[in-house]
Amino acid sequence: MQLISERTSRIATENAFKVGPYIAALEAAGNKVIKCNLGEPDFPLPAHIRDEVKRQLDLDNVHYTNPQGIPGLRQAVASYVGAARGLEYSAEQVVVFPGGKPPIGLCQQTYTNPGDEIIYPSPGFPIYESFIRYVNAVPVPLHLREEIGFSFTGADLEKLITPKTKLIFMNFPSNPTGGVATREQLEEIADVILRKCDPNIRIYSDEIYEHILFDGSKHVSIASIPGMADKTLIATGASKSYSWTGGRIGWVVFPTVEEAKLFTNLNINYFSCIPPYNQEGARVAIESPKSKDTIAEMAQAFQRRRDFVVAALNAMPGVSCQKPSGAFYVFPNIAGVVKNLGIDEAFAALPDKVRAATSPSTLFQMFLLWEYCVASMDRKSFGQIGTEGMHFLRLSIATAMDDLKIGMERMAEAVNDKEGFARFVEAGEHFS
Ligand code: PMP
Repeated sequence: MQLISERTSRIATENAFKVGPYIAALEAAGNKVIKCNLGEPDFPLPAHIRDEVKRQLDLDNVHYTNPQGIPGLRQAVASYVGAARGLEYSAEQVVVFPGGKPPIGLCQQTYTNPGDEIIYPSPGFPIYESFIRYVNAVPVPLHLREEIGFSFTGADLEKLITPKTKLIFMNFPSNPTGGVATREQLEEIADVILRKCDPNIRIYSDEIYEHILFDGSKHVSIASIPGMADKTLIATGASKSYSWTGGRIGWVVFPTVEEAKLFTNLNINYFSCIPPYNQEGARVAIESPKSKDTIAEMAQAFQRRRDFVVAALNAMPGVSCQKPSGAFYVFPNIAGVVKNLGIDEAFAALPDKVRAATSPSTLFQMFLLWEYCVASMDRKSFGQIGTEGMHFLRLSIATAMDDLKIGMERMAEAVNDKEGFARFVEAGEHFS
């Protein structure tokens, strides 16, 4: 009898956490590592939110609470999500989760039967793809197109829809590309969904970066397009907007109260409830007029860093980088670096087993990390299926400007260091 279930071998991971120990090893050896790997704002939790959490702790608000989420937070979510999208929701349609991540897998297990197909963006947040085979569904990557700002058209989506399509993941502003869809693009996508999909389709619209927007761009939800609200789940949370990744507060607005009840029961089964003091903090985060300023301050800082990093990247030979309109990532194309440093040939010459665990962009990511102490993410970390020959990196700009300056200097050296790369390959370590 095998100790571990076969199913367990079918779940992947989020590599942004996996490189943590590599960074720790480099730091333990006395190196300063520039950390552009994790998607986590480098700002403190705004004081008005922190004060509320402390106040709640002093009130001893630390016991079991409503498994769906405290009514005050759910009401605040229903009001702001609805108002910003021209829709009306009730608190009964909202479920609170421990972060924006858990509802992804829970939705896949709730809405799909074995063999049902799930369409998701690639590159995209890795957890979309990671869970699909685990729940016995079929992954159908929707490859975002660099030439249209890492978005996709109605026609791109239409080609992938079959009678088995059950769930479609969307994520604007996007991780890892920073792409933002316009209302026109969303109208075209909605038209395809309404024409082609089974009426029981569900759209998981991951809008966790809803507030991180640049150059005056506006966030539009697919739920706002007529006919879409009753098919769309809107998922967001406190991690990015309020620089509170450790608070573990996320929420989903469901199209029906019945669906919200099913997920409340999953909460009961998995974790009973979410810490009430953090939920009260999230309520204040949403309701306080002070949050508008703290969000604006963060977004402006990200925009300044974006402008610096995109210009620095585009000045490097072999690198081309689009200007993202939202979120806090840049996603440079490094096909030229792969060519210039001979990464393709080095990759092709690796033993089969080693090659299967890496990719040309992974080799550059590892070279940059181990030889230049800059932590980034490779293309493969954002969906693996059908990505052969795609050479990109993701750099998080949720990193202080001074560090980004050092990071860009180091990377500018790395992209020219053909000999260093050859030595790195020769050493035969750290390929993934
Ligand atoms: N969705 C996307 C697109 C994300 O980028 C992230 C975090 N990187 C999450 C969900 C999960 O957020 P949380 O930390 O709140 O679980």
